Amino acid sequence: MNIFISADIEGVSGVVHNEHTSRDGKEHDYARMLMTEEVNACIIGALEVGAKRIVVNDSHGTMRNIYHEKLHLNSELILGSPKKLAMMEGISSEFDAAFFIGYHTKMGQNGILNHTFNGKVIKSIEINGMEFGEFGLNALVAGYFNVPVIFISGCNLTVKEAEECIPNIYQSIVKETINRTTALNLHPMKARELIKEGTKKAILHYGQIKPFTIDPPYTIKIEFLNTGFTDAVEILPFVKRIEPLAISFENDNLLECYRLIRSSIMIASSTS
Ligand SMILES: [Zn+2]
Repeated sequence: MNIFISADIEGVSGVVHNEHTSRDGKEHDYARMLMTEEVNACIIGALEVGAKRIVVNDSHGTMRNIYHEKLHLNSELILGSPKKLAMMEGISSEFDAAFFIGYHTKMGQNGILNHTFNGKVIKSIEINGMEFGEFGLNALVAGYFNVPVIFISGCNLTVKEAEECIPNIYQSIVKETINRTTALNLHPMKARELIKEGTKKAILHYGQIKPFTIDPPYTIKIEFLNTGFTDAVEILPFVKRIEPLAISFENDNLLECYRLIRSSIMIASSTS
């Protein structure tokens, strides 16, 4: 099996604050180490049950977080940004399954460090009237390539959000959210053990989880946190401003929708 891993940091055990997640945070390097080891746990589990090729996409912020030298020898790492497919860069139909490590809930939900792609810019993202966070949007990109997302790790509420898209997804809950910047965390070693075992279980039961898809056509609605962002994004000729804070556009291709969402966020964030 060929495995694709999208690795974020907010859902890693022990990560609860901006000091952990932002580039200049005092505890960022420690959090990067925790993240690297949770990804390793997934890789080790996958290898133990026969995975062949494992590609990891560093999916947080600068997308330069994982300590490459500390990562398992039998893996390849996509580092850096910008990337056309952002958190899903590298995914293709050559992969058999995708794993999401260290994920978090969508903006406005009661999950630890909740946000959707950019917490300073985005209030919500909807496809055909359904709101999705990073889990759902990234799972749809995997689904576009016919790849099922079979495992998630993160806080209890993130796992719940994932189950709304993929009810039988394999999972490891590594912390319980108390509030946006507080969690009850498993010991890092325990979290890694759970991720390793969860990964093995997901691969050993391969075939039960189908790729996550929604039928086209797609109507995308993006709601921003202030009207200045909407002002900037409505310059794009294909978008309609439908509310003071929201734009909308239509497209039949899921991958193009994802790239247009990402582009809109980049344009909006360039004004802040
Ligand atoms: Zn992140």
